[in-house]
Amino acid sequence: MKILVMNAGSSSQKSCLYEVPDRGLPEQPATPVWEAQIDWTHQQGIAELKVTTPAGAVLKEEVPFQSRMPVVAQMLETLWNGDTQVLSDASSIDVVGHRVVHGGEHYHDSVRITPEVKATIADLAALAPVHNPVNLEGIEAIEKALGDVAQVAVFDTAFHARMPDYAAIYPVPYEWVEKGIRRYGFHGTSHRYCTQRTAQLLNRDPNNLRLVTCHLGNGCSLAAIRNGRSIDTTMGFTPLDGLMMGTRSGSVDPSILLYLMHEEGYTAEKLERLLNQNSGLLGISGVSNDMRLVMKAIAEGNPRAKLALDVYLHRLRQLIGSMIASLGGLDALVFTAGVGENAPHVRAGACEAFAYMGLKLDLEKNEQSPRDQVISTPDSTVPVLIIHTQEDWAIARECWEIVQE
Ligand code: ADP
Repeated sequence: MKILVMNAGSSSQKSCLYEVPDRGLPEQPATPVWEAQIDWTHQQGIAELKVTTPAGAVLKEEVPFQSRMPVVAQMLETLWNGDTQVLSDASSIDVVGHRVVHGGEHYHDSVRITPEVKATIADLAALAPVHNPVNLEGIEAIEKALGDVAQVAVFDTAFHARMPDYAAIYPVPYEWVEKGIRRYGFHGTSHRYCTQRTAQLLNRDPNNLRLVTCHLGNGCSLAAIRNGRSIDTTMGFTPLDGLMMGTRSGSVDPSILLYLMHEEGYTAEKLERLLNQNSGLLGISGVSNDMRLVMKAIAEGNPRAKLALDVYLHRLRQLIGSMIASLGGLDALVFTAGVGENAPHVRAGACEAFAYMGLKLDLEKNEQSPRDQVISTPDSTVPVLIIHTQEDWAIARECWEIVQE
């Protein structure tokens, strides 16, 4: 079965093609047979397209554009034309899976895309104004290029959709709750993937396991997972809640916003921009949203960079603690995504706080950042793992399962 995965973000469109044997899904994550990326924002008015195959074919093009759709169509054509060709024609694709950021209260699982599903994704754009419209655009680009191929929506929110109400409801006037203001949580595909992979690596039943998964990338979130279900998470109504991130603040006292509106005339738009784009590691360090550059600045003696890391770690420990409290115990702690997989000092800094309960990192192993391995000592009360998150593979798996139904 040939499964195309479309992962559309605000600044880039990543896509890949998997070939999965019809007899069943492999136990280990598969490697894509074709990968493509379009960067929309690097150069004004120019889309940078890059396509690669494991055989070593590489295509790089700069495409002037006014609308995204023709560029996506051009990207798709490299599947069946030119040096990067891996298919005889467009019709050999069996199913297309899309990462869709917000499924609201409607979707608890991945779904086959129908006109109704499209309409709901469009309605939910109010909750995810940056992402849902580009996700919809991707779905329409596929309809145009591939006709009525089966399409599946895999929602970032779905894994958290069965969170208990007491974890999802903000203590606000009840009318707000009735309007759908609640904790939705995000990065669900990654948290779900890490759950399954951790169970597999520890040889444990996922339905009898308490995990805290730390997805630390540009965006950061934690999930408390009990028996394969997310029961709490740090992102909320939007991805702005919870941990300190690359450019996002995470949770702040809402009165700070009110104070700035009353006293300094800040508008909603300005606050939204400052909290999403000028806060977090970038805001405090004044250096970068990239943990590597923050670390470099610390090594050069920059005190604001040091402060940024200290706040980041303090909040990470605090919220890991709160996730453990939600679970009432812990069977494994998992780190994933750009920072989680590659920054030993962040993992060590976070784990330090849990030495009291017998959690012990193997510091040498931690330094090496080994993928998909346990990095705690054999006598640690709780295993700590690094999992290389594979959201695209997780989306492909969802597609495979839905097509079997
Ligand atoms: P996104 O949330 O955009 O998917 P990623 O999961 O790819 O992000 O994470 C991107 C971040 O990972 C970068 O901003 C950078 O801070 C961090 N990162 C990547 N490699 C390293 C590294 N070797 N050490 C520390 N941080 C890293």
